[in-house]
Amino acid sequence: MLRKILLIDDDRLQFRVTQAQFNVFQGERYDLEWSATYEAGLAKLLSGIYSACLLDYQLGERDGLQLIREAMAAGCRTPIVFLTAESAQRVDIEAMNAGALDYLVKGEITPRMVERSLRYALKLGETLEELRRLATRDQLTGLLNRRELDRVLEEERERALRFGHTVALIMVDIDHFKAVNDTHGHPVGDTMLREVARRLNTQVRTVDRVARFGGEEFGIVLVHANREAAMDVANRVCAAVRQDVIIVHDDLSLTITVSAGVAILPEDAENEIALVNFADKALYAAKSSGRNQAVAYKKP
Ligand code: GH3
Ligand code: MG
Ligand code: MG
Repeated sequence: MLRKILLIDDDRLQFRVTQAQFNVFQGERYDLEWSATYEAGLAKLLSGIYSACLLDYQLGERDGLQLIREAMAAGCRTPIVFLTAESAQRVDIEAMNAGALDYLVKGEITPRMVERSLRYALKLGETLEELRRLATRDQLTGLLNRRELDRVLEEERERALRFGHTVALIMVDIDHFKAVNDTHGHPVGDTMLREVARRLNTQVRTVDRVARFGGEEFGIVLVHANREAAMDVANRVCAAVRQDVIIVHDDLSLTITVSAGVAILPEDAENEIALVNFADKALYAAKSSGRNQAVAYKKP
């Protein structure tokens, strides 16, 4: 299937011209789609189905710069090539600062330039995506890493305090994990870690975030969750890990358990540092009450 490219431009003639340019591309062929307005263009861009976007500066009352900023704020990752009518450098630079990956000056554009620019934006977009993945994901489990968890907690704390809702943190720690490594070796331990991570992911909604906090500890961030809801998830997580044996290979199946601690912002903690601290305290209460269970933080 051809990759889809979105053109956002209020001028039908520009669509025809671009289509004609696409028809004489020498390399990869693309499927060009057109949006004539700011609103429709933004909605299509945010649908995430396009491989790249050609975006015009002039779009009626609002301009393309605003559209880039709005799209970026909404988490858009589609590579954008900006089109300006004038060679006014300020607009070009502003577009790049706002998040466009390249720009073209209308009137000077040849088919080869559009083709080159699109190919460049697509490639750079892929590279940025890979960098983003490396910066935010844990290599072994594919879960969010500690740094990203910290960022998410800060962001969710701000949101929760502004809009008056709650955020729950579940800290999960594998029980007696050192014994797995000591008995079966580190590679078996790694397999167990990956499977536990997978099981944690099956117990949360898509809006929730699961991270590897470090070692054999995980953090689960639940938005709009009170103590009862968070304990429900924490208990399900414990059950999902203990329930079925983990088949490491043909001759080795192991069962494992986890303990979990739950704390709520703002009820227990007013910031993310205290939230981690209190969820950790609850986790240690779960450990000292015999492991394989979830405990909610209680103020001493
Ligand atoms: P507890 O029930 O009290 O949590 O006991 P535990 O043995 O799970 O806790 P402890 O902190 O003593 O041991 C954690 C172990 O996790 C030790 C370490 O070797 C292992 N570990 C940490 N990261 C990794 C990893 O990436 N791979 C493997 N295989 N093991 C890891
Ligand atoms: Mg442990
Ligand atoms: Mg630990």
